[in-house]
This record gives sequence, structure tokens and C-alpha cells, in this order.
Amino acid sequence: MQSKASPLLIVGSMAFDDLELPTISAKNVVGGSATYSAYAASIFAPVRIVAVVGEDFPSGDLEALSRRNVDLAGVERKSGKTFRWAGRYDTNLMSRVTLDTQLNVFADFSPKLPRSYGDSSYVLLGNIHPVLQCEVLDQVAGPKLVVADTMNFWIEGEPDAVAAMLKRVDVLVINEEEARQLSGHHNVCKAAKDILRRGPKSLIVKRGEYGALLFDGQSTFFAPAYPLEDVVDPTGAGDTFAGALGGYLAKTGDLSPGGLRRAVMVGSAAASFCVEAVGTAKIGRLSGQDVGTRLDAFRKLMHVPDEI
Ligand code: AMP
Repeated sequence: MQSKASPLLIVGSMAFDDLELPTISAKNVVGGSATYSAYAASIFAPVRIVAVVGEDFPSGDLEALSRRNVDLAGVERKSGKTFRWAGRYDTNLMSRVTLDTQLNVFADFSPKLPRSYGDSSYVLLGNIHPVLQCEVLDQVAGPKLVVADTMNFWIEGEPDAVAAMLKRVDVLVINEEEARQLSGHHNVCKAAKDILRRGPKSLIVKRGEYGALLFDGQSTFFAPAYPLEDVVDPTGAGDTFAGALGGYLAKTGDLSPGGLRRAVMVGSAAASFCVEAVGTAKIGRLSGQDVGTRLDAFRKLMHVPDEI
């Protein structure tokens, strides 16, 4: 295990979200894939963000990230409005529909990495336009690990750019619906086989409250989601998962199959906190100790007595 954590470079959205949840609605919630991932990753490793915000993005939220060892040298503030997303969740909180996506300052964003980011060996391509994900990779010299996320919006709208991005990825993290959409297969095992032929060495399929599956072409691993009584807001759970996974791998440097399995458990533990509050309220204050406690709870949850 490495003694000192390597930095994790994260590109993704920084956003305002309008959320219609079964019991509450919340407007102008600060979110975005980079925001959630950065908070989660910062528990384990120093983080470097590449993103763009508009004039309206609150400085206080940038300061809060900065206090968590997140380097914001790659966050550009442009004139105009911040990226905005609106979504409505089903009563069971398992599915959601996107009501609106406004790219705003992301529409003509071209990421330019600060020189200090050039040596980043761990990269998380958070959910954002796949062309921007590739432009970031172009500026990193020989990364050891590239983790990527994407979503239906890009799979549908930019299939060629998504295909080009997949060729450059080590670990792809997507949800089950996206895996089906990307592969054209309903069955998750068939979908995984298909997606692993397109570039990624490993695929993680998130299944919401039913956990996550890790496929590497040789074996399959299952990580449960922690059973919670009160799920408040699932927004950002996927980004939190990917951020914690990437941060943990940047900390340990252990990219073996066992190391990846541990990282999936860490991602699942971190995501279970994210959903307990609206927006980043919980993930923004999470500690390594909190994650450790939940990993202990997972061990108890998964314990099978020898005498069966
Ligand atoms: P998750 O719930 O993990 O899928 O992520 C939700 C976050 O993704 C929200 O905070 C949104 O602002 C952000 N988001 C939604 N759609 C997009 C998109 N097309 N590109 C980038 N970020 C997005």
C-alpha cells in the first residue's frame, strides 16, 4: 500500500439542481458531478477539479471544497450562468426523469489544465460531455488509472464521442439503465460483456438500493447498498460512489482485482451517506471514520456463519 495518497484529478459539472422529491421540492441546490465526486474523494486523497462555473455560483461553496483539500486552480469562472439540471424522482426514489438540462457556461467550455495538474496519475472523468472528458485526458501525461462515468443524456445524444471516450478508460461506472442503453442488452451480464469489448478493463454497474456489480471479464463481484430507513435525496449518489472509489484507489495505489473490490465497497459506503440528506449536506461533512463505521456495518451485514 502507498504511504502517501496521489492526487485525483476530477472533471465534471458544477451545477444548480432543481429537485422534485416525493415529499419535498428543492430549487437551486448546489450539485454537479464534480462537486459530489470531489467531496467524496477528498476523504481519501487530495483532489484537483477541472470545471467551469458562472457568475452566479456561490463563492462559499468553492471555499467549502477548498477547505477539504480540493484544489480549484482548474475551476474557471465565466460570465454567464452555471450549468443547471432539473429532475423528478419516482415515489420509490429508484427512478427519475430529467426535466431540464441547461449547459449554460459548459456549452462552449474548453478545459485547460493548470500546469500543476499535468502530472495527475489518477483521473476521474465525471459525468460531462464526452468530448470534454477526452480533452482533459489529452492534457494528462500517461495516467495510471482512468475512471469514467457518463449518463443517458450523452449515450443518446453523443454516441460517437462516448465510444471514443470508452476506448481510453480503465474503469467505467454507470447505472444499470445506462448499461442497457449503451449495450442494447437487457441482461446485465450480457451488457457487461458487450461494454468490456468497447474499451474499459473493468465495468461497475450501479443498481441503486440493490448495490453494484463489478465485472472485469474474469470474475464478477457484488457489493450491496447499505439498507437505510430514510432515503431523502439520491441525487449525486453515483458521483459520490465514483469519487470515493477514485479517491480510495489514489490513496492505496492498489489496482489489483482485490484492491478494486475494496474500492467498490468504499464507494458503496460513501454513497449510502450521500442519499441521507438533500444535495451535498451530508457528503460535504463526511469523514474517513464515518466511512469506516459503515464498512464495519457492511461486514456484519454480509457475514455468513461458517456452520451453514
Ligand atoms: P447522479 O445522481 O450521481 O447521477 O448525479 C447527479 C448530478 O449530475 C446532479 O447534481 C446534476 O447537476 C449532474 N448532471 C445531471 N445531468 C448532467 C449532464 N448531462 N452532464 C453533467 N452533469 C449532469
